[in-house]
Amino acid sequence: MKANSGKLTIGAGRPNGSWLMLLLLLAALVPSVCLLWFMNQAVHNERLAVRQKLADAYRANLSFAQNQLEAYWRQTAGALDTDAERLSPPALFAKQVRAGMADAVICLDSTGNVAYPSPALAPRLATPDIAWVLAEGLESNKPTEAAAGFARLAGQATNADLAARALQAQVRCLVKAKQTEAAIAVLTGPLEEERYRHAADAQGRLLVPNAELMALELLRDSAPDRARATLELLKKRLLDYDDSALSAPQRRFLMHEVQRLFPDEKLSPMLAAEDLAARCLEAGPIHAGEPALRPTALSGVWQFASARGRVVSLFQTEALVERMRAAIASQLLPADVSLTFLPPGKELERSLLIQPAGASLPGWRLALALNDQRLFDTAAEQRIASYVWIGVLVVAMVIVLAALALRLVRRQMALTQLRNDLVANVTHELKTPLASMRLLVDTLLNSQPLHEQTAREYLQLIAQENLRLSRLIDNFLSFSRMERNKYAFGFKEVPATDIVEGAITAVRERFNVPGCQFETHIAPDLPSVVVDADALVTAVVNLLDNAYKYSGEEKHITLSATAENGSVFFAVKDNGIGLSPRDTKRIFKRFFQVDQRLSRSGGGCGLGLSIVKFIVTAHQGNVRVESQPGRGSTFTITLPRAEAHPGLEAKAASSLS
Ligand code: ADP
Repeated sequence: MKANSGKLTIGAGRPNGSWLMLLLLLAALVPSVCLLWFMNQAVHNERLAVRQKLADAYRANLSFAQNQLEAYWRQTAGALDTDAERLSPPALFAKQVRAGMADAVICLDSTGNVAYPSPALAPRLATPDIAWVLAEGLESNKPTEAAAGFARLAGQATNADLAARALQAQVRCLVKAKQTEAAIAVLTGPLEEERYRHAADAQGRLLVPNAELMALELLRDSAPDRARATLELLKKRLLDYDDSALSAPQRRFLMHEVQRLFPDEKLSPMLAAEDLAARCLEAGPIHAGEPALRPTALSGVWQFASARGRVVSLFQTEALVERMRAAIASQLLPADVSLTFLPPGKELERSLLIQPAGASLPGWRLALALNDQRLFDTAAEQRIASYVWIGVLVVAMVIVLAALALRLVRRQMALTQLRNDLVANVTHELKTPLASMRLLVDTLLNSQPLHEQTAREYLQLIAQENLRLSRLIDNFLSFSRMERNKYAFGFKEVPATDIVEGAITAVRERFNVPGCQFETHIAPDLPSVVVDADALVTAVVNLLDNAYKYSGEEKHITLSATAENGSVFFAVKDNGIGLSPRDTKRIFKRFFQVDQRLSRSGGGCGLGLSIVKFIVTAHQGNVRVESQPGRGSTFTITLPRAEAHPGLEAKAASSLS
């Protein structure tokens, strides 16, 4: 207990319990944090577990796909060798590409040299005679005469190569002489004869397809219909892979030329295959080792050699993957997963299961991923949500329990403190009247001779102190019982006037002094109230005592009792020091005193009003105060009248019995 600017408060000076709060906070926080950590771990593990379960379920599917893939490549290697036995290299090339078995093919001979796309054919030399030289001499100045000379040479030549070359030279001269029609007539006439089919120039290039290309260039703009007929002829020749006479470089060159002249003509996939094979051969050597898919020197292009190393298939990555996908009976895979072929070095995020693609595909891996990732998430999330809920509930429970424990402990601490305050207060308050009584008695004993008048005055003073002591002890006892919940009320139905009279009797003597004007107003026909009469008289006397204590020299105290609307009112009015609005809210608290010195001199310890409130509340009534500083206060106790008080009537009946 500590005096603070004149006010007595309990609890001040005792440990404020913040360490306790901290301790309890920790007690709640540490398990909560641990729980959250465990939950986090559990959530993580749950995700892994769900992933593992799904992966286990699909592992067999992936192995099945791998076996199918392995079988496909084995079969491919075998088929390539069989074809290599039966077909010429160009025919094998065309078959593989047309059947979509490969993007291009390189055929090797038994010594490991490239057989197709072969380099240019061997040069085909034929010695021109003097007439040829003469015709050539006229070509630049007299192209018409030169043309006639070459025509003659063509007619006389017995060698098909020479005859065709002469016709070609004739065409050249006619073009120079601006005789385009005549040139076209030669190109589409004599040169198309069957005997020139394999005629070649000195570099081994076939002459007829070249002548057809020339005719196309001449006819394209002037006679589109005739050009189309020649185009068909040339296309047929270019796409005829059974005729091995056309070298791969010439075929490729002519295909590009046709494509240039007629961009709409479809020469793929053969042109693309020729290009791919040529680019690969240029880029680096081809490995015809064991049958396995390997990268080529060309980025994004893969090679697969046949078992006996006679054929090497070439694949571009996307087309390769498509081919492998087609090779696997994808319909046997579950619909909710998709299979991905991962080339070496490539990764797939969110893949469920990955395993090597097999011996034929070194470095490649097969990956299974869920089509709808949400499927996995929902499965995991349901479990996670339940974990989170349990976690939240447990944390909430821990917090609630901690809060309850905190309240309990604080309450206990407050009670202990209260007890300590009470002991200190009681000791102090009891000492004051005892000390003054002792002083009076000592003075009386030491007085020689003892004057009767003085003795009487002293004895009166001692009686007053005695009374004050009794009141204090009464209050302490009431308070102590009240605190221990041991205050037993004996309810009885009594007339309200009895309460007023009891209170008047208790204070009459004390108030009957000069300077104290005590008035009572008791309304006629006051109803009965169900009360513990002694307790209620104590409450009213406490209010009257306060009115006396906290009024100045000229005291004017009024006790009134009225009844209205089923309630009985006991009001104590004084003209004393009054209370500030702030203090009116606090005076009913235990040990609260507005001015400690004033209270002490009047013999109080801040319990009177809290006892009043306790008693009145137990009677299901209330006590209120209206006050103005310096102008006095009015304390009013309101009680329900007996008829309006069935609960207490019952109590009264039981206490009577
Ligand atoms: P105390 O024993 O100190 O009188 P109470 O509980 O009876 O304790 O009163 C609490 C405080 O309320 C008093 O200390 C006093 O400051 C104030 N108080 C009570 N009654 C009156 C009143 N009639 N006029 C002014 N102040 C009062």
